[in-house]
Parts: sequence; structure tokens; C-alpha cells
Amino acid sequence: MLYKRSSQLFAEAEKVIPGGVNSPVRAFKAVGGTPIFVKSAKGAYLYDEDGNRLIDYINSWGPMVLGHAFEPVVESVISRAKLGTSFGMPTALETEIAALVVAMVPNIDKIRFVNSGTEACMSAIRLARGFTKKDKIIKFAGCYHGHSDSFLIQAGSGAVTFGTPNSPGVTAGTAKDTLLARYNDLENVAQLIEANKNEIAAIIIEPVAGNMGCIPPKDGFLEGLRQLCTANDILLIFDEVMTGFRLAKGGVQELYNIKADIVCFGKVIGGGLPVGAFAASSAIMNYLAPIGPVYQAGTLSGNPLAMAAGLAMLQALNNDAAVFQRLEDKTAYLENGIRKVLTENKVTFTINRVGSMISVHFDESYVVDFQSAARGDNETFKKFFHGLLNEGIYIAPSAYETWFITDALTYEDLDFTIQAIDKVSKTF
Ligand code: PMP
Repeated sequence: MLYKRSSQLFAEAEKVIPGGVNSPVRAFKAVGGTPIFVKSAKGAYLYDEDGNRLIDYINSWGPMVLGHAFEPVVESVISRAKLGTSFGMPTALETEIAALVVAMVPNIDKIRFVNSGTEACMSAIRLARGFTKKDKIIKFAGCYHGHSDSFLIQAGSGAVTFGTPNSPGVTAGTAKDTLLARYNDLENVAQLIEANKNEIAAIIIEPVAGNMGCIPPKDGFLEGLRQLCTANDILLIFDEVMTGFRLAKGGVQELYNIKADIVCFGKVIGGGLPVGAFAASSAIMNYLAPIGPVYQAGTLSGNPLAMAAGLAMLQALNNDAAVFQRLEDKTAYLENGIRKVLTENKVTFTINRVGSMISVHFDESYVVDFQSAARGDNETFKKFFHGLLNEGIYIAPSAYETWFITDALTYEDLDFTIQAIDKVSKTF
């Protein structure tokens, strides 16, 4: 496939945008080559500036669970835009989407909307600290919770792809309040709690990790965290920015029947517009300004276009009883197909999957935490990535990212993808 125009556009972008991209994960730094510039997208397909059609397995890094340019979302954004694009005053729409989320997600009474997953996680931590009157937090190596200072300590996603898990600009004072634990290692968490008695406000976790590839929690791990938190007056924060409205209507809390104290959302909740949110019981949420002491705000928070997109998306998911089963079936079909061809072609691999989140690691051992995810063979991944791109299939340009399956994919698309993987993996 030709990417001449994309290369030209990238060269122009590099002159005025750092690295030519507005978010590092879009660059092809880990795999080589230049990023592809998108012109439009519909359903499961991207159409680029060179006129190529690509089957999309990133889907805007998660939000487009029902496909690109999903009609109800597009229609409601267009009709809402005609009524004004921002007021900085309350609208009925905000209450409507809030009530729908509270009805769909277990264990929450109130929700506040923000503009990104980063803001959601950052605000959740401030709220947890204010509520518990404690300073420290525990996060897991390889989990990504956005780019606010407290979280850029051994973060996953782009922060690890580029080898800068500890970003300059994060002060030592901030870093000292973030304690690092190993994903899937309960003993390690228990030790940290013991060593920092009565100092830990919250444990934040991707309850199914997606930023070091997909890593499911081991049996009993989330239950164990819940018990440790309850026993030590620590709030358990589920970062469901990736998993929320993707793995189940009520996210991982519903999927594994575990209660979090605060839940963070992003991606799907905005239907492709910039939306994040955090939610909890009334007791916790009432700690927020204007009724509580913890300050949090936003000029564009609850923006009518963003809320219209999110509401249309959530209504579509809420009204479709079979959607999560369809996503499971399609992704299981893809998984089985990939397993078959990679095994036949004698490739060393591990596939991790939960529902419509799946990742292929080029390593034979189990991938259960950041250390094991980092062992994957990046040279093989590069060949895999560029080989698939050449076949018209777009996966994330980093071995540390999850594929996000959309319901817009047909079984023909999946068969085409499996055949392409067969072809490409013969060249390894
Ligand atoms: N949390 C998780 C689990 C994420 O995957 C991401 C983004 N990939 C974020 C938080 C940050 O969200 P945003 O990029 O919208 O700020």
C-alpha cells in the first residue's frame, strides 16, 4: 500500500507539532515508518489520505465500540450543535446521561463528568485523598491512568513504549506519594500496606489491564484487593476508562461482581467526543465542591455536544441486550483463528483476552504483569505490524497496546484478518 500523502502530511505536521502528533502513541516510533493520516472512517474501516481502506483494530483506542460514524451518535451531535455548543450552565442533558450511567453501573449513586480519562483519574485520586485524609496511593507497574503527575510512575501505554516511565517534570515530592505494586501480586500489595500503615488513601487499578497489552486479573486478585482495602480503610478505585461499557454494561464491577469505591470512565462513555467521568456513592461524591471541600471543576465539563454523543452511545448499548455477547463471540472467533495460524506457522506467542480486549504477545510464557509483558519480542512485533498494515489492517503501533474489537466488524473482516496474519507470520 502507498502512504505517500500521509508521509508528506507528517513532514508538514512535524514542523508545527512536536513529533507531528498530538498524543505520543500515534507516532510510529516503536515500529518505524510514519503515521497514517485519516481522512474519514465508517463502521469497521478507516479511509486514509492516500485512498487506502484499513480494517481498524484500534477504534480510537477504545471508544468506537459500535464502529466509526455510528449513526445515532452523529445525528444527535449534529442536532445538538444547532442549539449552541457550550453554555457553562447546567443542561437537562447532563442529568439524563448521569441517570443512565447510574442505572447501568453497579454501586454508584452520583457521577461527575470531565473531559478526559486523565482528568477522571486525577480527580478521583484527589477526592480519595480528601475523603480519607491520607496522602499516598498504590498503583500497579504497567497500568496507565492518564498523564497527570501522580500516575507517570512506571506507567504503561506510550509512557513505556518510549522508555520514559518516569517523566522529567514530575517532582520527587509527587513521586514519593505514589507506591508501586506488581500487577496480580497480592502479597506485594499487602506488604506495601503494612509498610505504610494508615498512610494509603487509595489503590487505583485497571481491573482488566489494557496498557501493557491485555492482562486479566488472576482469580482472587481483585477480591483480595477489595478485602485489603476494606480492612485498612483504603478506597479501591477501578479505572474503567478502557473496560467501562466495553466488557459489560456495568463494566468490570459487573463482570467479576466486585465492588469498587470509586470508578473512572472515559473512551466509550463519550461516544468518540472528549468525555471522562468519575462516580461513587453519595457519601464520597458529596465530598466534592460545591457541597464538599474537595475542589474540581471544568469550563467545558458536561459539554452539550459531548453529552449528546455519550448519551446516544450509552442508550444504544443499554437497549441492545445482545451486544456484549456479540463482541465476545467475534473476539473469541478472532482469537481462535489467530491461535490456529500462529501455531501452524510455529510462531512463539501468547494471546491474552477478556471480552473484546485482546493482545498478541510474541513470547511463550504467561503474560501476567509488566515484567512479563516487557519480555515480548519487539522485532517480531515490528514485522507483524508492518506486514498487517500492508494487508490493509491497522493495529496499534506498539506491542504494549490492546486491540479493541468493534461490533461493526463482520465475520468476513475477521476471516480476512486471520488469513493476513497467516500470510504475514509465514515471513517471520
Ligand atoms: N486510564 C486508562 C485505563 C486509559 O487507558 C487511558 C487512556 N488510554 C486513560 C486513563 C487516560 O485517558 P485519556 O487519554 O482520555 O486522558
